[in-house]
Amino acid sequence: MGAEHHSKAFAPAPRADGRINLVGLSREELEATLTAAGLEKFRARQVWHWIYYRGVTDFAAMTTLAKPAREKLAEHFVVDRPVAVKDLQSEDGTRKWLCRFHDGQEVEAVHIPEEDRGTLCVSSQVGCTLTCRFCHTGTQLLVRNLRADEIVSQVMLARDALGEWPSPPEGRMLSNIVMMGMGEPLFNYDNVAKALKIVMDGEGIAISKRRITLSTSGVVPMMKRCGAELGVNLAVSLHAVNDELRSRIVPINRKYPLAELMEAVRTYPGLNNARRVTWEYVMLKGVNDSLADARELVRLIRGIPSKINLIPFNPWPGAPFECSDWSQIQRFSDFVNEAGYASPIRTPRGKDILAACGQLKSESQRPTASQRAAQMEVHKALAAEYAARVAEKEAALSLG
Ligand code: SF4
Repeated sequence: MGAEHHSKAFAPAPRADGRINLVGLSREELEATLTAAGLEKFRARQVWHWIYYRGVTDFAAMTTLAKPAREKLAEHFVVDRPVAVKDLQSEDGTRKWLCRFHDGQEVEAVHIPEEDRGTLCVSSQVGCTLTCRFCHTGTQLLVRNLRADEIVSQVMLARDALGEWPSPPEGRMLSNIVMMGMGEPLFNYDNVAKALKIVMDGEGIAISKRRITLSTSGVVPMMKRCGAELGVNLAVSLHAVNDELRSRIVPINRKYPLAELMEAVRTYPGLNNARRVTWEYVMLKGVNDSLADARELVRLIRGIPSKINLIPFNPWPGAPFECSDWSQIQRFSDFVNEAGYASPIRTPRGKDILAACGQLKSESQRPTASQRAAQMEVHKALAAEYAARVAEKEAALSLG
């Protein structure tokens, strides 16, 4: 899939009321936007502080700015948040928000609290470009990419709800971010990168790159750029250890097979024993959970600084799989552990509110026939391209 999937980021479009949302603009864009409205350049730093360090949405409350400046800001701009149309709390403390944006599209964001910290799972697309068979989001056709402001504002909405403005340096309940919500983040790279740079900025939300993990299903061409530009931790949706099975349950494997994926991970910038890749491996009964699979997994990742997250499959309505038996998951984990790789079994969180891994889905649909046709064309093109590559390889082999 080429560049058409990476939407252009700047040129903030005014809302229906003509005002511009300042959330999601980079520092340079914020400065340009404010000066274009006749405000002094230095105001940009002040406004950045109030929006991202203090979480203020009302310009009148930005008391370090002169009153005329605050009035001008309120005239031209807004500090937007999505509407939390649902705010669900699980008995295990996990919290899920259904976030609705201006055009009515919705995504889910999930907060998973631990003893002294907490992780926010953030979405990057409405629906998903891909159709991984074990994933609820995969059953929802892609509606659209999220813009940078819509990605950042999931973090801000969660901070509002957790009461973490200004954010304490220690003991934060929103201390880590995983780009593991709805969507394939590397198919919306420009907006995801822009949003994460805002989140990582030390004078605002200030969540360090070491506490951010981006999970990809294997968009090989974008992985190096992500590592080089953002420096965030990498997680890969692996879920199978041979091309035949992986191409069935993680269809992007038809485009970027395991050999290419392994090479892209091996060369991911900054990967080392202190910053290992996380392989996500959903445990599907009788599909990918045998000890032979465990053995092949160990062989596949040899030499790559790795940890494996074993994810007991979380069922969703209509799901075509069952979760492996716990005893089999334990055997699989022991085998991989004994081979020298940490392979903790992820405790499902928020299952009672469909907030667990692979359970996210919003009702946002754009069920037009042309959309379906376009999506089918994408898949057909993928398969055709892959078939052509296989034929080419085979031709080369026969030539060899
Ligand atoms: S696992 Fe990720 S890439 Fe695959 S369908 Fe689900 S959201 Fe999309």
